[in-house]
Amino acid sequence: MQSIRKRLSIILVCTAILALFISTLLVNITISTTFNKYLVEIQNKRNTRIVTYLEDVYKKNGKWSETSGIEISHEAYMSSYCLTLKDENNKVLWGMNPNEIINNMDATMQVKNGGVYTTSTFDIKSGGKIVGYIEVGQYAPVLLSKEDVDFKGSINKSIILSVVLSILITILISLFISKQFSTPLRQVSKISVHLSNGNYDERSEDKSNILELEDLRNSINTLGEKLQHQDLLRKRLISDISHEIRTPLNILQNNFEAMIDGIFPVDNERLAYLNEEVIRFGKLIDNLNGLKEIEGEEISLDVEKISLKDILSSVVKEFELVSENKKLQMTLECNTSKQFNILGETDKIKQVIINILSNAVKFTKENGEINITLKEADEKVILKIEDTGIGISKEDLPYIFERLYRGDKSRHETVGTGIGLTIVKNILTLHKANIEVKSEEGKGSAVTVYFNRV
Ligand code: ADP
Repeated sequence: MQSIRKRLSIILVCTAILALFISTLLVNITISTTFNKYLVEIQNKRNTRIVTYLEDVYKKNGKWSETSGIEISHEAYMSSYCLTLKDENNKVLWGMNPNEIINNMDATMQVKNGGVYTTSTFDIKSGGKIVGYIEVGQYAPVLLSKEDVDFKGSINKSIILSVVLSILITILISLFISKQFSTPLRQVSKISVHLSNGNYDERSEDKSNILELEDLRNSINTLGEKLQHQDLLRKRLISDISHEIRTPLNILQNNFEAMIDGIFPVDNERLAYLNEEVIRFGKLIDNLNGLKEIEGEEISLDVEKISLKDILSSVVKEFELVSENKKLQMTLECNTSKQFNILGETDKIKQVIINILSNAVKFTKENGEINITLKEADEKVILKIEDTGIGISKEDLPYIFERLYRGDKSRHETVGTGIGLTIVKNILTLHKANIEVKSEEGKGSAVTVYFNRV
């Protein structure tokens, strides 16, 4: 198996090489064709120039001699082509030896020029009549001078140089780019291994500027946070349950031992006290069971049209005694002419109000206030329960709906199981209702529930 870095680098380098190869090939073909065209044009012009020159020579003398126009053979020799002048009867007047120009051409030019000797013959005319022929012979269809060969060579050299440079640059860039992909991925995979080993405090710190990779990094970090929080809850759950179970068990054990040893008398009062502990113990188990039931997926609601006002009034009545004992001022504000109907299951909605209200009572000190308001707005029925209690700290607020979560303060001051609001949230989710909690430590809390109106 290959690493993503290696695979990406190979793909990028191969693509770059392929692209360079194709572009180099195209550039080379274009340059060669244009260059050859240019050379053919030059050669044609040269041939026309030779013919015109010899026609002028013939015109001047009116006939051919053995040396007519022979001076152009010098240029022909220097440019590596052969000339042979013939009169109108095809009799050779003078001619150059093809072997001589071979010696004049250097080795590279011979290779470039091809090596096959070919001739072309052009008519020389005077007064519209053919007076002779000039034969031009050369070792290639197009003759390349040393400068031409050098020019082509230097172009090829720069193309090769630019290809090599481009490949080097591509390798460097591909290493850099592939690192940008591989580093965050490797980090995420390392962290997921840590998480699976139970090291929940590992986080990925290196930010990526690639959207998907940054999303992945954030997701694994969120996953880590959630797992860490769940782990904390699990540990709390175990310590809470064992604490809650241990306390009544210890009391029962100590009392029973004292009774067996004859230190405590076995009377009704003591047995009633012990029975209370057993009941408290049972309540805790009930609460845990209730939560399990509510969270079960098979739960279905027995929904009907119910009046929230009626349910609220009956619950408030139940709390009158306990709030009086605690000297709390509890007020209920709602439009008596309205019913505030919603779709729901009476028992479950009652449970929601009881849990929220019992928290308000539990966390509000003596002489505090609890204000309950019920109103309608748009398509909603809004129930608000405000108290002037101890409030919830900013750190605790996001977690109060979690199973068995209890704020630090409430842990020391009041009895509770941390299940009440979890049940509330679950019931409200089943009813498609929303809950919102606003709170300020030391000042109080406000719990608002938004039901759908019918
Ligand atoms: P508990 O059995 O502890 O009341 P809940 O799930 O009902 O469990 O509440 C969770 C935590 O939310 C409580 O422990 C407490 O810290 C906080 N809380 C809930 N309601 C209030 C409130 N009205 N005032 C202050 N704190 C509250």
